[in-house]
Amino acid sequence: MNIITTVKEMHNTIIEQKQQGKTVGFVPTMGYLHEGHQQLLMNARAQNDIVVLSIFVNPTQFGPNEDFDTYPRDMDRDEKIAAEAGVDYIFFPTVQEMYHDEPSVSVRVKSRTDVLCGRKRPGHFDGVATVLTKLFNIIAPDKAYFGMKDAQQVAVVDALVRDFNFNIQLVPVETVREENGLAKSSRNVYLLEEERDQAKELYKSLELAREQIQKGSRNPVEIVKLMTEYIEGHTSGQIDYIEIYSYPELSPLKHLTGKIIIALAVKFTRARLIDNMTLTIN
Ligand code: AMP
Repeated sequence: MNIITTVKEMHNTIIEQKQQGKTVGFVPTMGYLHEGHQQLLMNARAQNDIVVLSIFVNPTQFGPNEDFDTYPRDMDRDEKIAAEAGVDYIFFPTVQEMYHDEPSVSVRVKSRTDVLCGRKRPGHFDGVATVLTKLFNIIAPDKAYFGMKDAQQVAVVDALVRDFNFNIQLVPVETVREENGLAKSSRNVYLLEEERDQAKELYKSLELAREQIQKGSRNPVEIVKLMTEYIEGHTSGQIDYIEIYSYPELSPLKHLTGKIIIALAVKFTRARLIDNMTLTIN
């Protein structure tokens, strides 16, 4: 496994590999790897000749009051996990290497972002789309792997690949969870001890919503109310949003039908957690 820190070397390495006819699978991350990232890497390993993992805490997707400076980082541990997962190259650039002093061009996402995290984190998805455009150009993967834990991100990348004509197959990967249902996240380390136990209730609230739908409920207002009451009754977290839309378009629905997403964000003392469930209703 090689660690590459410059755009030039990454680019040249990929060109060499492609000249040999190798296919490239790409897993973009911000590091502090856990089983969710490992699942993405396993899929990439199984489906491609070469696997590239990027580790880059991207400043342009963090708001001014968000956790860019304190985002957990542990490169030594990440290297071990990546080597075990069979990664061929880790792309690990500095912020200066990626953005130089003052970038002149950025990507703006015009739809699928006025809801959920996009509404709560203005500019976040512009930052995500900008860095991914750069990474897609540098690494030119055949396939790129993204977790459904960040389902809105998957919807945005789907639009980015389509609108900017990237010749890349987007591969969504199911959310990896703890045994109690809590979605694995680098930010789970921020949870206080009593909050770790409460955090499992977020997934329970999604399961409750699914049960309600299975029983025949098609009213999103009723389901959001049920989830709100459940989370307020079982956790000390502050609900940031609980919303239901069509997926991946993220359009509002009065009556639930077709492929939908039920998504939530809840703020605990030091961690803001997100989770979601996608369902198809006939
Ligand atoms: P991050 O490092 O948090 O930016 O995540 C990098 C990639 O890993 C994104 O595509 C995430 O959606 C994905 N990911 C994060 N957590 C999970 C999880 N629990 N299960 C599956 N994928 C995940």
